[in-house]
Amino acid sequence: MRAVLIDSKDSDARFMEDAEESLLTGPVELDVLFSSYNYKDAMAVAGKGIARSFPLIPGIDVVGRVTASETEQYSAGDLVILNGDGIGESLHGGFATRARVRPDALVRLPAEISPDRAAAIGTAGFTAMLSVLRLEDTGIEPGSGDVLVTGASGGVGSIAVALLAGRGHRVVASSGRDEENGEYLRDLGAADVIHRSELSEEPGKPMQSQRWAGAIDGLGSTTLANVLAQTAWGGTVAAYGLAQGTDLPTTVLPFILRGVTLAGVNSVEAPLTLRERAWEALTRELDLDLLDSLTTGIGLSEAIAFAPLILAGETRGRTIVDVT
Ligand code: NDP
Repeated sequence: MRAVLIDSKDSDARFMEDAEESLLTGPVELDVLFSSYNYKDAMAVAGKGIARSFPLIPGIDVVGRVTASETEQYSAGDLVILNGDGIGESLHGGFATRARVRPDALVRLPAEISPDRAAAIGTAGFTAMLSVLRLEDTGIEPGSGDVLVTGASGGVGSIAVALLAGRGHRVVASSGRDEENGEYLRDLGAADVIHRSELSEEPGKPMQSQRWAGAIDGLGSTTLANVLAQTAWGGTVAAYGLAQGTDLPTTVLPFILRGVTLAGVNSVEAPLTLRERAWEALTRELDLDLLDSLTTGIGLSEAIAFAPLILAGETRGRTIVDVT
């Protein structure tokens, strides 16, 4: 099989035309059709601490066709999606032509979504929808007020903007990029675009003017602290990422004086029922033409050279990896 392989903690990832298929273990065998590139994959390929067992095939997303299954739930020919569940971190992932996976987190590919589009959605779209559902489940409805998306040009951020706008929220996108990028975000549905330096540079006062009914944050650190301080009474901030940092220099005041909810989002270990709920909602709500407009593609042999571009913030939207 063709595969990207990381041999050890200290070695560079390498592309192999003839990797041993005996590396793979798991009850459901797949021909991988597409994977996708997430920030985490770039970190894994660049040796920045995501890979937890070696050798490892990176790739936290798989869209594939079942070729054989030891469990009755799946049979040859089924098209399936796997996001997270340890693949690309401690289990072999999607940057290969073949995969063997556990059935516990497998979702059937909805008939309305083609395999390449399912990969374009990938962990990013899945996480964006999990974040949107956190807002919905805590009562943040369209009309509640502005909803902020930070890191809005990133994979998760771009899809979060599109999903929230599609639901009828007034979306404010925060981004560090130039004005041309503002057009991209408005095309996705943002009503307004602000520069990320407004939120990221200093941890401001613990209580600030109330601006957001809700927020979806992929940055953490001072950005998340400021977002919490600006969230209106009863609002919710769904936190999924740490692109700025893992720290959170905040106080309890937004929680005890404004009843703000900080709702965590973890796509990797999401239970199957939540995965199915999120994919059903994505199938119903995501504008697939809009998804196409934010998606680009690369081949498997280009995957190693692509990692530094993601880490340097030089990519935008979603990148699928065509492994066929
Ligand atoms: P991307 O690289 O596609 O997007 C990240 C975006 O964050 C960038 O486009 C940029 O947005 C902004 N950004 C990057 N670096 C900085 C910085 N130093 N300071 C401020 N803003 C910055 O990544 P993903 O969308 O794939 O992932 C985003 C984060 O979410 C990562 O931390 C990732 O590990 C995490 N994640 C967590 C998941 C979970 O299950 N909890 C699932 C998926 C991702 P802009 O250019 O608009 O400013």
